[in-house]
Amino acid sequence: MSRNELKRWRCQECKAITLEPALLSAPNPFDPDDTIVGCPNCKSVAEFDELCDEPGCERPASCGFPTAAGGYRRTCYDHSDFKKERALQENRDG
Ligand SMILES: [Zn+2]
Ligand SMILES: [Zn+2]
Repeated sequence: MSRNELKRWRCQECKAITLEPALLSAPNPFDPDDTIVGCPNCKSVAEFDELCDEPGCERPASCGFPTAAGGYRRTCYDHSDFKKERALQENRDG
């Protein structure tokens, strides 16, 4: 199972959350090597925030880390391994 297909992006224009396969994309008319990405909700070419890949979490992804299964995750701090590791450390120390 690939998590990438479930990657969610939030449009900075209208704040709609769109799954990656549903984003609009087209070749950039000014640069054929580039692709422009549009929002299917407001139809504007917008900037998108990548969201945490934890189902149901709508915070922006600020952490990225490899998984034991050989994949890669992008999550907010709360769902990252960094927080889990810190919690484990604090349990050991405390
Ligand atoms: Zn939008
Ligand atoms: Zn999260």
